Amino acid sequence: MTTKAQPLTPPQVAEFLRQVALTRDQEADCGTCLQHIGEFAEKKLTGTELDAALLSIEHHLSLCPECTEEYEALKKILEAHQ
Ligand SMILES: [Zn+2]
Repeated sequence: MTTKAQPLTPPQVAEFLRQVALTRDQEADCGTCLQHIGEFAEKKLTGTELDAALLSIEHHLSLCPECTEEYEALKKILEAHQ
């Protein structure tokens, strides 16, 4: 009797997709991003080291044009007030 790799059963596929979705949830979404974006912009502007939460914001910004737009606008305001 040979052991062959079995294709994933539908419940296994569902579980796999659930895990992928969970992993995604741990990354910053737009709501989280906008909550921290003020702090993020300030730290970027002052050259302060980013903590893990703010690094996930930076990662989100690299993927999300809407939040990047917010960030750019905020950055201009902060720079104008320096
Ligand atoms: Zn976003």
